[in-house]
Amino acid sequence: MAAVGEPDVDLDAHTDVWVFIEQHDGEVAAVSWELLGKGRDLADQKGEDLVALVLGEDLEESGIPDEAIDRGADRVLVADDPVFAPYRADAYGQQFRHLVEQRKPDIVLIGGTHTGRDFAGRVAVPTHAGLTADTTELEITPDQYEMRRPAFGGDALATIICPNHRPQMSTVRPGVFDEPSRGDGDGAIEQVEVVVEENDTKSEVLEREVGDVADITDAEVIVAGGMGVEGEFGPLERLAELLDAELAGTRDAVEAGWIDPARQVGQTGKTVRPKLYVAVGISGAIQHVEGMDDSETVIAINNDPNAPIFENADYGIVGDCDEVLPQLIEALERQEV
Ligand code: FAD
Repeated sequence: MAAVGEPDVDLDAHTDVWVFIEQHDGEVAAVSWELLGKGRDLADQKGEDLVALVLGEDLEESGIPDEAIDRGADRVLVADDPVFAPYRADAYGQQFRHLVEQRKPDIVLIGGTHTGRDFAGRVAVPTHAGLTADTTELEITPDQYEMRRPAFGGDALATIICPNHRPQMSTVRPGVFDEPSRGDGDGAIEQVEVVVEENDTKSEVLEREVGDVADITDAEVIVAGGMGVEGEFGPLERLAELLDAELAGTRDAVEAGWIDPARQVGQTGKTVRPKLYVAVGISGAIQHVEGMDDSETVIAINNDPNAPIFENADYGIVGDCDEVLPQLIEALERQEV
């Protein structure tokens, strides 16, 4: 039974798995493709369609709808209008909400980016959807659809179910699922009615400034430092430069003020899956490893041969980073010449 003020939801009327394809100036956020891959699994398990939803301007020219099909969507809903460029929370929220009410999806996945977090609540609240933020696991069990996320500052993993409301929405942490490769998709693209007018929005974008906070979740190579580097990030920066890598760090290194919090890897930081992860002076605490153990290759440098990080490393160098790093840097610099 629905609580006072809430609609009585016909659960069976809701079908299909929706994935929001986030794009800015034609550039798709990697997490959207990751979610399309996961969405494909969920849709197949439920026997439902996988639907991609993209909002913006000149989307056909961008090739994004076609790419969504090639990456596994059965259908792509396209809302194409200047009102959606650049992104504004109220315009996106209004259009997305309209489509949810009109078409009744079962599951909705949105990347847990600044954009996704910004507007997801504008859809979930008025539609009385169940929304799980910062989800890291999604699973269909024999009984129900389960969304999991870290709770109590990362000390526990909470399983959240949504038995009485639809859609079952999640914002999902970037980097936790694999991106599906691009094949030859066979799906339909539908231009939907745009229900937002310029007058409906309360905001006007005067200028956009992209901050210099790097998104380490997209990095192919990461050089990460922990307490063992004792605040000396200079050699790590040089190594990162030579390897065309992003810098990252442990929570303790962040708390020591040595590295920006946006670059923290781990349970309460970012989940990364680079091709190469170089861990310098990092002990390998479970909370750190959780954020990087899907890296393709891990090289660990630590002066303690028993440091747990070596259990997660493909290559281990037991030694003082003050000695090992200069040698590594010198060898790479020689190659550059
Ligand atoms: P340490 O554990 O102190 O390790 C330093 C390492 O450097 C040691 O192994 C030492 O042998 C080595 N070393 C020392 N000197 C040298 C040298 N000269 N050369 C080479 N090696 C040297 N941590 C995270 O990273 N990310 C998270 O998201 C995160 N979330 C957390 C959430 C919760 C709820 C809790 C309780 C903890 C969390 N932590 C997280 C903290 C985590 O438990 C560890 O405390 C932290 O990862 C340790 O950081 P570290 O490896 O830099 O430091």
